[in-house]
Amino acid sequence: MFDPTRFIADRTHAIDASGIRKVFDLAATLENPIDLSIGQPDFDVPDEIKQAAVDAIQSGFNKYTQTQGTAPLIQTVRGRLDHRFPMLGDDYGMLITSGVSGALALLMLTCVQPGDEVLIPDPYFVMYKHLVNLAGGTPVFVDTYPDFQLRPERIEPLINERTKMLLFNSPSNPTGVVATQQVCKEVAELADRHGLLLVSDEIYDEFCYEKTPDPDHPDKQVLASPLDYSSNVLLLKGFSKSYAMTGWRLGYAAGPREVIAAMTKIQQYTFVCAPSMTQAAGSMAFDVDISSLVEAYRVKRDKVIDRIGGHYELTTPGGAFYAFPKVPDHLGVSGNEFVKRAIEKSLLVIPGGVFSERDTHFRISYACDDARLDQGLDILVDLAK
Ligand code: PMP
Repeated sequence: MFDPTRFIADRTHAIDASGIRKVFDLAATLENPIDLSIGQPDFDVPDEIKQAAVDAIQSGFNKYTQTQGTAPLIQTVRGRLDHRFPMLGDDYGMLITSGVSGALALLMLTCVQPGDEVLIPDPYFVMYKHLVNLAGGTPVFVDTYPDFQLRPERIEPLINERTKMLLFNSPSNPTGVVATQQVCKEVAELADRHGLLLVSDEIYDEFCYEKTPDPDHPDKQVLASPLDYSSNVLLLKGFSKSYAMTGWRLGYAAGPREVIAAMTKIQQYTFVCAPSMTQAAGSMAFDVDISSLVEAYRVKRDKVIDRIGGHYELTTPGGAFYAFPKVPDHLGVSGNEFVKRAIEKSLLVIPGGVFSERDTHFRISYACDDARLDQGLDILVDLAK
């Protein structure tokens, strides 16, 4: 009997994507759902950036680029980062990748091997766990409930000689929580003390609603809470969220030169390079002012807190465009069951179990137009009763 599944490797079978698929299968039966499940901005790529990509294509900039990325884009990104890596001077490595997902895949393939343990704050961005598993490593979850701040005293007992890296994601997907300055400091110290690679996924750094002083320009305020980039920090950033370029596949990794060089080697034999035309456009994206878009999301964030904060246990999301409320105890249902109830009312949200070893919460994305958001929040208020 011909069994095509035997061609699929055990490590692939080990990835269970059924949770989220079930939700989307159910959602596919809906006519015109109120969709608060989408993890991407609802605005379009700013016109100047689109034009730069069109110009690049029309001028024939359509071929492979250097594996590490184009010189102009590397130079632009370095110009913004140099002072963030004081311990490495300008001697840190830089790799332009196919989105932060591309960087994460390269990182895991490059650094994680069977026997290695990777610390992942729970709740987490779904890809972390699966990529660690694919690479043959073991994800070790650090519980951050209920306030979603990463506490050293919860990490420390999980560290042993097999622990290799700690993933850090602020602002966070799925909670929207921004790490406090104290947490950033403590996490950096802990990673230093234990010789861990501290991987900082800052893809939502522009979407940060509580401003703090810019470590590089004390007279200015920055949006993200600052993590000290010491010599063991690997920074991942991207263009998908800030400029709505999710389909353009552009991101970058910066950090220890040896690690970046090894990731570059793997990129050479996998992705080859990030897309040429989006690299050309990426060079000028930093000049585009997105502050009004961020402000619009702050207003939506406030609306979410105002409308459902009294009905659900909800840690204030300081950034990204997500909120992660707890299913009210008196309903007596799991996150998954709750989401089924929401879908019956045409509201699409994602059960917390997709992002966590617990199934007690659900994720809202408020990156949608105000009328839909209002409708969705009304349904949530209703469901909490
Ligand atoms: N990290 C986090 C925390 C994310 O939420 C996402 C996208 N949902 C990514 C990385 C990957 O983004 P991209 O590959 O589009 O850059």
